[in-house]
Amino acid sequence: MKVVALVGGVGGARFLLGVKHLLGLPPTGAGESGHEVTAVVNTADDIWLHGLRICPDLDTCMYTLGGGIDLARGWGRTDESWVVKEELAAYGTDAEWFGLGDKDIATHLVRTRMMRAGYELSDITAALCARWQPGVRLLPMTDDRVETHVVIDEPGTGDRKAVHFQEWWIRYRAEPRAQSIVPVGADEATPGPGVLEAIAEADVVLVAPSNPVVSIGSILAVPGLRKALRTTAAPVVGISPIIDDKPVRGMADACLAAIGLETSAQAVARHYGSRALSEKGILDAFLVHTGDTADAEGVAIRAVPLLMSDVDATAAIARAALDLGGVELPA
Ligand code: GDP
Ligand code: CA
Repeated sequence: MKVVALVGGVGGARFLLGVKHLLGLPPTGAGESGHEVTAVVNTADDIWLHGLRICPDLDTCMYTLGGGIDLARGWGRTDESWVVKEELAAYGTDAEWFGLGDKDIATHLVRTRMMRAGYELSDITAALCARWQPGVRLLPMTDDRVETHVVIDEPGTGDRKAVHFQEWWIRYRAEPRAQSIVPVGADEATPGPGVLEAIAEADVVLVAPSNPVVSIGSILAVPGLRKALRTTAAPVVGISPIIDDKPVRGMADACLAAIGLETSAQAVARHYGSRALSEKGILDAFLVHTGDTADAEGVAIRAVPLLMSDVDATAAIARAALDLGGVELPA
């Protein structure tokens, strides 16, 4: 079976652990199951810092699935040290708000060096994954530069300005209200190699419980992606990242508010919309958490436990998504 998932960072990576488990793959590392999992990964969080190209969502997926993630933190490497970060701070360099561990920096060094040598992000990701063996094909949504910017009134000065998503999210903890959130460069981007084909050939497409605006929304902003989801023969099933009107972790509510949506599973379901009934819709079905409801015309809704507390619980979510999409799991 061919499973495609649209994913961001932490929520997406954890979801993929469960998808792998359900398909009989080891959650971390590669294995043989006869099934194929492809993740289309958000790259609009990517940022240049200290001359290094950093791809937070790709790295979170790669480290999580490769067994190298710091699980408690949710990002970065296990047993990390912070010598370079401390030395940079001693020089008073800016961007000291961004967590850059020593081991993690090695990944960014390899990536940046390959970029400078002319390789595309998709090639570089494949090269990095040769080490990590995530057991999932990780495809950047695009090889082109797309960066989410957030328009805010800067704390302290009150000046209205656009900052990189990471600055708003990490430095300012998403506290200054986002006047708008824009995936800069998305209009001119083309889908990464293999992305459209994977969606077209999938047996099922899953929209992970990732941030609907800055993870899934950025992926959908790449021209061609939405059409691919609307025209694939595979059912498209989403999983709510919102439980009981709150994000499970993180500050997705601040992103939803910025695009004029309330924080609820229903608002997300309606925002993604029905493939059958709405002109831009992408969903056939949507899972919400037990106790939540969603009324979204043309989208089949089912409530099941959606807390990804361990791989078994997460595999059960993936199974429920397949069920709701009418896809039978081969024995
Ligand atoms: P990021 O790029 O690291 O922010 O991660 P994603 O965009 O992939 O996922 C972030 C979203 O995951 C947040 O909006 C959370 O609400 C959601 N999330 C995290 N843990 C869980 C969980 O256990 N269950 C569900 N349903 N959503 C979760
Ligand atoms: Ca992210």
